[in-house]
Amino acid sequence: MASISGRCLCGAVRFAADVARLEVDACHCSMCRRWTSGPYLSVSCEGNVEFDGEANIEVYRSSSVGERAFCRRCGSALFWRMHGSHHYAFSAGVIEDQSGLAFKKQIFIDEKPPYYDFANDTERLTGEEVVASAEAQAKG
Ligand SMILES: [Zn+2]
Repeated sequence: MASISGRCLCGAVRFAADVARLEVDACHCSMCRRWTSGPYLSVSCEGNVEFDGEANIEVYRSSSVGERAFCRRCGSALFWRMHGSHHYAFSAGVIEDQSGLAFKKQIFIDEKPPYYDFANDTERLTGEEVVASAEAQAKG
């Protein structure tokens, strides 16, 4: 188990979390791009999470699947969280120590607009493949 810590742009929200892997995923879906202006780069966490300044966190329910949290003061995107679960995808950009992170996976690759492409050699999943694997996990 590894750990990460991070803070928003203004510092009103800080967090520390345990993560299984120091791996970064990129989501190219239209909601993530509308939220952050680009693909949402994140580190998944299903372990222990502790917040400091939790009163400054605003949560927006963006779909039937998940919600998006941001700092009430500075607007920094903090995390995407699946409803009814302890699955967080923390914004990679708010994590303090970037040195140990490895870019591993791109999801909703079929929603990526043509004007950019990552050169990194990563796993690439379509939205359909992501939903299918999430359903497989829910069943299993
Ligand atoms: Zn802030």
